[in-house]
Amino acid sequence: MAEGPVVPHIDRHPRGPHDVAQEEARKQQQKFHRLVLKRDNRTCQNCFRTEKELEPEELPLEAHHIMWLSKGGTNDPENGTTYCKICHKMIPDVG
Ligand SMILES: [Zn+2]
Repeated sequence: MAEGPVVPHIDRHPRGPHDVAQEEARKQQQKFHRLVLKRDNRTCQNCFRTEKELEPEELPLEAHHIMWLSKGGTNDPENGTTYCKICHKMIPDVG
C-alpha cells in the first residue's frame, strides 16, 4: 500500500454561514431541551421517575426527539419527550 505525501493538517476554522447555522441549531436544541424537561416536570417518560428519584449515574435527563431531526423532526417541544440517561440509551435515536 503506497502512502501519499504527508500533508500537514491545518486546522482552519473560518466562521462562515455554516458555523452560524450550527450555532443557531445549538441554541434551538438547548431551548428544546429546557422546554421539554419543564413540560414533563423533569420526569423520565419511560420509567416515570423524577430527577430527584433517579440515581446520579442515571442523570442527566435528556430531551428525546420523537421524530428525528434527520427525518424532518423539529425542535418544537411537541416533538420531544423526557428520558433519563438509561432509558434514552434504550431508545434508538440519533437526535
Ligand atoms: Zn428512565
